[in-house]
Amino acid sequence: MRGHGASRVGTVRQAIPLRKHCLPHTFPEAEEMIYYGADYYPEEWPRGRWARDAELMQQAGFNLVRLGELAWSRLEPEPDRYDWAWLDDIIALLHKHGIATLLGTPTTAAPPWIVDLDPEVTLVWEDGTRSSYGYWSNYCVSSPVFRERSRRIVEAMARRYADNPAVIGWQVDNEFGVMGRARCYCDRCRKAFQRWLRARYGALEALHSAWGATFWSHEYSDWAQIPAPRRTTGPHNPGLLLDWARFCSDRTLEFARMQCDILRTLAPRQLLTHNLLAAQFTHLDNYRLSELFDVIGWDNYIAAEHPEAGALSHDAFRSCKRRSFWVLEQQCGAKFWAPYTALPRGAVRLASYQGIAHGADAILFFRWRSGLIGAEQYHAGILPHDGRPGRTYEEVRDLGQELARLGSALEGTLPRAEVALVLSYESLWALEQQPHHAALGDPWRYYDAIYRCLLEQHIPVDFVPPVADLTGYRLVIAPALFVLAPAAVENLTRYVEAGGTLLATVRTGHKDAHNRVVDAPFPGLLAPLLGVTVREFSSRPAGDLTPVAIAPAWGGGEAPADTWCEWLEPVEAESVARYAGGLFAGEAAATWRQAGRGGAMYLGAMGDALTAQLLGQLLARAGVRPPVEVEAAWPVEVAVREGTGRRIVFLLNHSGEARSARLGFRGRDLLQGSEVTGTVELAPYGVRVVEAV
Ligand SMILES: [Zn+2]
Repeated sequence: MRGHGASRVGTVRQAIPLRKHCLPHTFPEAEEMIYYGADYYPEEWPRGRWARDAELMQQAGFNLVRLGELAWSRLEPEPDRYDWAWLDDIIALLHKHGIATLLGTPTTAAPPWIVDLDPEVTLVWEDGTRSSYGYWSNYCVSSPVFRERSRRIVEAMARRYADNPAVIGWQVDNEFGVMGRARCYCDRCRKAFQRWLRARYGALEALHSAWGATFWSHEYSDWAQIPAPRRTTGPHNPGLLLDWARFCSDRTLEFARMQCDILRTLAPRQLLTHNLLAAQFTHLDNYRLSELFDVIGWDNYIAAEHPEAGALSHDAFRSCKRRSFWVLEQQCGAKFWAPYTALPRGAVRLASYQGIAHGADAILFFRWRSGLIGAEQYHAGILPHDGRPGRTYEEVRDLGQELARLGSALEGTLPRAEVALVLSYESLWALEQQPHHAALGDPWRYYDAIYRCLLEQHIPVDFVPPVADLTGYRLVIAPALFVLAPAAVENLTRYVEAGGTLLATVRTGHKDAHNRVVDAPFPGLLAPLLGVTVREFSSRPAGDLTPVAIAPAWGGGEAPADTWCEWLEPVEAESVARYAGGLFAGEAAATWRQAGRGGAMYLGAMGDALTAQLLGQLLARAGVRPPVEVEAAWPVEVAVREGTGRRIVFLLNHSGEARSARLGFRGRDLLQGSEVTGTVELAPYGVRVVEAV
């Protein structure tokens, strides 16, 4: 390593405390400061520019920069010939400016020589065509060459940088699952799928039974006959499709684990992370993937335009490891894949604060400067194409100064939720295969009205897998828990009987672990706990609204159902709402059952207002209240980080108009240093950070 004199090490150590989480597996719940920086591609720029960039980064308050994740050809120009000099130099230069490095393993963008070594290294799509070499992230992890070359470059990088004091950790690969990457339909993946099935089922008879292979004569006489579910004349067997989704998630996990194992062995003092796509992308089981890493990160390209979707993703990733998370790519301007739309002044600061409010303790912007070369030329950076600092740089620099003041105030704080949303990847995968309605092709649709309602009421929420420990949650919501395993039913039953409140919604309990419809009235294994069975169900055409009358004990009035309606037959439950027209007129649309010391609602119809009213009633019954009292209507968001007796309240105005919020507490504005109470003003896209006193 060049350029790492003792004085430089001292400079960085002083600027960036050697945090406890640099030692793997010994994390405090929160950190004493925020990592702040950008993703930088020195390989795209002349060396003569690097020093200017480092100066500007330092002036913007950066303490962390991500390097290298797209630079494989510069690190290994030809197989086994490495060139570290440029990376050594830029790490040292940033180090000199008080900026640490997060190194990306570069396996998301392989050099062309990989195709010379394996002409079949690229992905095969569902229609059987093979991706051309080009773009990025289109390599098949079943390629022995790709795996071996990935192993070698990661080992070589780890040996080179494990003891570099400026390198705090590693981002393993980049955006697993992006662009369909997790599902390759090549013959190697097909063979791997067959081996995976053999390990899972042992005998073909067991597989036939699990999948119901007698249907359409799909009984196999040899494991080698089992297809990858490439496009055919219609849908594949549901059992095959669900196992394929599991296998593909496992396959990516296996590739990630290979890299993590190398880094844990060779670079044990550096942390490991990964930048997932938004939570709404569901080809991977993010709970299991997160287990590989010390801290999980995600790339935020949605919050600036869809703040409610950004909030959901933040909550989902905080929930993965029940600790703070990182935003490893924060959008800071127009995106190259959408209409080129500049962000309004204040939007970058606002989106960054939203992440911090939901538990992020690192914000890295993508990217430092708009590129002059490559397919992402029109993806806006902090600096524009000409490299001159403009309004985005000023916004980022000002935010850096604010975060330097704010960091210590956030120590030991995170959002604390009393409401949990159950998230089952197997259910999402199965629902995606059988949406039964054009509006339900995205299974997150089942979460939208519920999450939005909680967000608007300023109520924090965690996401949990179906078998998570639910102790401490006042309300657990399980939207469309389509694939239902006995362990989940036992968990939810135990929770309710111990005093918890459960809300289950449409399409719950239809499927067993093999994606077979259960041989019992819906909601299947949950019917005894919910005290209700489903007689019939139907999707509703777009625009078709069915009136639902809500019982006076649940607020009364009427609210429309749309998209999906179920005719419920209470067995040991009371009717909470009835259809006042339509296909199931007079029948129950929602029920409530007191069970043990708790209770459970089944909501058999979709509809935003209907959901909001019944959820509001459940929140009140369960005693769930926002952590602080603030009167503010969406698009003003209120999010709270709590801990060590402190409550830090973030007021986020997601609109281009000035808004106000009325505080029900006295506080101190941590950015302005002033005492605040009563009504506070929020500028367009403005943020206030108030500590309740
Ligand atoms: Zn493949």
